Amino acid sequence: MGKKTTHKFKAEVSQLLDILVHSLYTNKEIFLRELISNASDALEKARFKTQAEGAADELAPEIRITADAEAKTLTVTDTGIGMTRDELMRNIGTIAHSGTAELARLAEEGKESLDSLIGRFGVGFYSVYMVADEVDVTTKSMDAAAKAITWTSDGRTDYKLQELDEDRPHGTEITVHLKEDVASQFTNLAHIKQVVKKHSNFINFPIFVGDERVNTIQALWREPKFQIKPEQYAEFYQFLTFDPDEPFDTLHTSVDAPVQFNALMFIPKHGDDPFGLGRENRGLDLYVRRVLIEKQNKDLLPEYLGFVKGVVDTEDLPLNISRETLQDNLLMRKISSTLVKQVLDHLTKMAKDDADRYAEFWRAHGELFKAGYMDFLNKDKFAGLVRFNSSALDDDKALTSFADYITRAKEGQKEIYYAYGPSRQALSLSPHLEVFRRKHVEVLYLYEPIDEFVMDAMREFDGCTLVSAEHADMAKLDKFEDVEKAERPEALSDEQKTELDTLLKRMKDVLGDAVTEVKASTRLSESPVCLANPDGNVTSSMDKIMRVMSK
Ligand code: ADP
Ligand code: MG
Repeated sequence: MGKKTTHKFKAEVSQLLDILVHSLYTNKEIFLRELISNASDALEKARFKTQAEGAADELAPEIRITADAEAKTLTVTDTGIGMTRDELMRNIGTIAHSGTAELARLAEEGKESLDSLIGRFGVGFYSVYMVADEVDVTTKSMDAAAKAITWTSDGRTDYKLQELDEDRPHGTEITVHLKEDVASQFTNLAHIKQVVKKHSNFINFPIFVGDERVNTIQALWREPKFQIKPEQYAEFYQFLTFDPDEPFDTLHTSVDAPVQFNALMFIPKHGDDPFGLGRENRGLDLYVRRVLIEKQNKDLLPEYLGFVKGVVDTEDLPLNISRETLQDNLLMRKISSTLVKQVLDHLTKMAKDDADRYAEFWRAHGELFKAGYMDFLNKDKFAGLVRFNSSALDDDKALTSFADYITRAKEGQKEIYYAYGPSRQALSLSPHLEVFRRKHVEVLYLYEPIDEFVMDAMREFDGCTLVSAEHADMAKLDKFEDVEKAERPEALSDEQKTELDTLLKRMKDVLGDAVTEVKASTRLSESPVCLANPDGNVTSSMDKIMRVMSK
C-alpha cells in the first residue's frame, strides 16, 4: 500500500459541503442521478479515447449499482476513463463545475431557498454528502502509467489519498457509507431501481441494479414522430433538463438535405437567468449515430436561442471528430443554419396561430431572444417575432408587433415611433410624447436598454422607418390632425411674439452653456417646456452609453 496523505478541501468546496451536509432538502435521491451522470460521462470519455486511438476496449461499458444493507453502503461502479492522482485532486477537492460555485454563492446570498437551489442546479459529486457519512472513491485511469488510488472523506475539511498496490481494470468505484436515517431506503434494491428509472432512464449505457438491467436506453429522437406519446417527450425532457415541469413546447424534426440530421428540441416553460447560470447552461447535445459527441454544444444554436434544450443526431459527421475541429466544420454550420430556421419558423407559426401562447413564450424567453438583433442573416424573421408594449395597448403587460403597429398607423404614416423610459407611467407623462398623444399617433414603449439596440439594428420594417419619438420630424407629424385639441392660441399677436422672444433670450442667458438653444415649438400642449436633443449633437448611442454608466 502507498503512503496515506491528507489534503485540505479548497475553501469553496468546504462551503458547499457545509451547505449540503446540513441541508434539510428532502429530495436527496438526486445524489444517485449525479453519480450515474458522472459515470456516464466517464464512459463517454473512455469511448472517445479508444476511438481516437483506434484501439479496442477490453471492458464492456456499463454502470453497476450494488448495496449492502448490513454495512449500510451503496456502491456505484463504472468501467469509464477513471482518474489519475492529479485528476482526482483537481476534480474532487476543488470546484470544477462553475454551476456548483454559483450555487454556493447564491446559497450564501440567501435570497432563494436552499431547496429550490439544490433542485435547480445539478450539484454534482458533492451532493452525495446529503446522504453520506463517508465516501470512498477508488479509481484507475486508462492512462497506462497510472496507479489505482483511493480517495476517502467524511466531507468535512479534508480528504485522504492512498495509492493501491494491486492492479485494477480502468474505471471508478464509489462507495457511499449511508447516514443512519437513509440507510434502509438506499440499500433497498427495489427503491434504487425506481430512482434510477425516474432520473436516469435515458443514460446511454446499461445500468445494472443488483444483476438486473434497469434503463431502457432509447434514442427517442430517432423514433418516428407518430409513435411517440406526449408523456415520452415529457419524460425525456425532464431527464435532459432536470426540470420537474413539462416542456412548454416540443419540436421534433428530421432533415435529409443539405445535411442529414434528427433533432428533438424543447422550449421550457421558464427562462434561465440569461446572465447567470443560463449563459453556460445552454446548447444542444450533439450525437453522431447515437454516440454522444458533445454535451451542450455552443455552436449549433446562437446565444439568443439558448432557451432551446435538446439533442441533435447526424449521420454525416465522422464518429472520431474532435471537439476542436467541430467548431469550424462546414457540416456543423449547415446543421446550425437549418436548426435556427426551424426554431424561428416554429415561433413564427406559433405567433400567427395563437397570439396568447406566443405572448406566454415571450414573457418567459423574450429578454434573451431580443439579443437576436445581432443575427443579421435572419433579420426579417427576427423583426417579425419581437414584441413591445405600446401607447395603443391597455396596460404594460400587453404586447404588440411591428406588423400590428402598421395596421393601426395613420394614413400616410411611414414611420414607426418608439420611446425609451423606465415605465409605462413615466412614458405616458413624458412631455416628449405630448404631440403623439394629442394626435393619437402610436408610440412603442421600450423599457429595457437592449430594446434600443434592437431598433438601431432593425432600422425599418415593411417599408416603415423606425424613429425615436424624441427625434421625430415635426413636419411629418404636423400632417396629422390633432385629435385632442390643445388649448393654444391659433396665432400669436406681435406683442406676444416680442414677449416670447424676450423670455427665450432671458432663459438662454440664465442657462448659458448648459443648453445649445432655447426655442419655441409646437410639440407641447400641456407641459410648458421640455429638453430636446439637437439632432446630430448627442448621438443616441452616446446617450445609451451614458445611461448604462449612470445606472
Ligand atoms: P461535473 O460532472 O459537472 O463536472 P461533478 O461534481 O459531478 O461535476 O464531478 C466533478 C468531476 O469529477 C467530473 O468533471 C469528473 O472529472 C470527475 N469525476 C466524477 N465522477 C467520476 C467518475 N465516475 N469517473 C471519472 N471521473 C469522475
Ligand atoms: Mg457531474
